Amino acid sequence: MDSLFDSLEEGEDRQERLAELARQVSVCTRCDLALNRTNTVFGTGDPYSPLMLVGEGPGENEDATGLPFVGRAGKLLDDILAAVRLTRQDVYLTNIVKCRAAVQEGGRMKNRQPRAGEIKACNPYLQGQLDAVKPEIILCLGSPAAKTVIDRDFKITRDRGKWYDLDGIKAMATFHPAYVLRQRGEDLDMAKRAVWKDIQNVYAEYQRVLEARE
Ligand code: SF4
Repeated sequence: MDSLFDSLEEGEDRQERLAELARQVSVCTRCDLALNRTNTVFGTGDPYSPLMLVGEGPGENEDATGLPFVGRAGKLLDDILAAVRLTRQDVYLTNIVKCRAAVQEGGRMKNRQPRAGEIKACNPYLQGQLDAVKPEIILCLGSPAAKTVIDRDFKITRDRGKWYDLDGIKAMATFHPAYVLRQRGEDLDMAKRAVWKDIQNVYAEYQRVLEARE
């Protein structure tokens, strides 16, 4: 899959490029996650934003709706963005895999982390989104996204909050909202404080990029 945009001319509008990619994703069978999905979940937001958020993959609610980050984790993500006066419409939001990874447990399907082969199979779509949106800042949400986008040896508790240079793109990772929601007591306070600090730093960079564009 080297030429996702074979049918598109160079310089074509990035919304058209993303729409074509989303169409390809909607019928994709490159990995076994296609077998049990209800909907593919491609991405949402502003394709002209300097800031791309990259999460792990659709869960049960996202699979049901076809939208990224719905349910409790989605509400927390909205609150994190609102802390710096951003909304989902100000950023471009996607995941490293576009179909739900789940496992049968106790008679029902439970979310699981996507496997390395599934992430690899889906990576051309993420690369296509990066090529189309051309973000200047990437915020990875959680370890699988950070390992995929920033560094395969990334350790979220050790490396979150640090800036990385990815060929001129500034990238950082913070905790995934679903991880934050699983914490209790002091751990919850620590995780929230860390995410809040990270989003402040990302917002400062976002502001700097917007000012440079003016
Ligand atoms: S997860 Fe990605 S590669 Fe796998 S079937 Fe879905 S769209 Fe295709």
